[in-house]
Amino acid sequence: MNKKSIKDFNSGLNNKKVIVRVDFNVPLDEKGEITNDKRIVAAVPTIQYLLDKNCAIILMSHLGRPKGQVVPSMSLAPVAIALKKIFKDNNVIMAKDCIGSDVEKQAKALKQQEILLLENLRFHKEEEANDDNFAKKLASLAEIFVQDAFGAVHRAHASTSGITKYLPSVAGLLVEKELEYLGNALNNPKRPFLAILGGAKVSDKISVIENLLNKVDALIIGGAMAYTFLKSQGIDIGASRVEEDKVELAKKLLEKAKSKGIKLLLPIDHVVAKEFDENAEAIITDGVNIPTGTMALDIGPKTIELYRNEILRAKTIVNNGPMGVFEFKKFSNGTIKIAESLAEATEKGAISVVGGGDSASAVKKAGVDKKISHVSTGGGASLEFLEGKELPGISSLLDK
Ligand code: AMP
Repeated sequence: MNKKSIKDFNSGLNNKKVIVRVDFNVPLDEKGEITNDKRIVAAVPTIQYLLDKNCAIILMSHLGRPKGQVVPSMSLAPVAIALKKIFKDNNVIMAKDCIGSDVEKQAKALKQQEILLLENLRFHKEEEANDDNFAKKLASLAEIFVQDAFGAVHRAHASTSGITKYLPSVAGLLVEKELEYLGNALNNPKRPFLAILGGAKVSDKISVIENLLNKVDALIIGGAMAYTFLKSQGIDIGASRVEEDKVELAKKLLEKAKSKGIKLLLPIDHVVAKEFDENAEAIITDGVNIPTGTMALDIGPKTIELYRNEILRAKTIVNNGPMGVFEFKKFSNGTIKIAESLAEATEKGAISVVGGGDSASAVKKAGVDKKISHVSTGGGASLEFLEGKELPGISSLLDK
């Protein structure tokens, strides 16, 4: 990574007051309890590193979409409770706001090895507007800015980008790790380099496909987006999901892949149903054509075998998006089997990187998340990274 991280800053951090942008956008139930704490857990290494450097630590995050209003059900208070459990010996203080004179006093009084968690940044509309004055106020609370919210680095907000104008800014350990895996996979891959794209829409993935066609040796396409590609080849897709206005583009992308000598694999059989329903009867097709009146909701067994063989050949594999409607048990097999193949390839020495919220939950569902080299914590951010876009929360950090 060509950006400085807290490791490169090292002794420069000792005893400093540090403000860290974390991604504590955790899911809460009706009782306000955290139902999945993986984002908090992902921030722990950086917080611990800063505690070990004797820093006074200010943490800031957004939660949900309060749209510039104070919405009590979107308070970060439950996160403060979770942090108190993790950092038993430290004082974790919950602030009532993220700016203002009370917070300024609390930040000023903050001692080394204490943690102050600011209230939801998005209670102020200035956060998402990347308001300069708001960024300046956040910056005034500390001496150094640490970017560790990988899930938010594709946004140019006051706490992710604006603040870097006013403080020396470096990456945290999570962001460093994300950039290392995604960056190496994309720019310095061990070959063959294979990308597996799935999910709902071709339109969401056009820029990713275009960028990856300059990088990969092979590309696997699954999920609903595959049927737009199959339709462009004159294959019957029945009532499967399709983006009619993208059929021509899909055709062009297939031609582009061919002209570049990139192996592009599409499903050769399917699991179909008569309706989009988790209890619908699952029928396996004989071949690539999808019978009239049925829709494909998963890849079939022959496709799983074809994809598995390609996965086992690869040395670097990037996966974004599921192979089918994996939320429905009857149609989750393709996604699960592909996740298992990814784990198998990784055990044989390949580097595997899984990005996107759905793919991350799919590898977890398959029980192989620990076997994948890296499961990205940022859905949108990892997708924009694969598109080759500049990430505002990264580009503004200090260069090495
Ligand atoms: P994305 O957010 O683009 O990664 O898309 C993920 C969504 O695509 C999931 O909710 C899947 O249920 C959905 N999906 C995947 N395959 C299909 C399919 N064959 N038909 C309809 N939806 C699908």
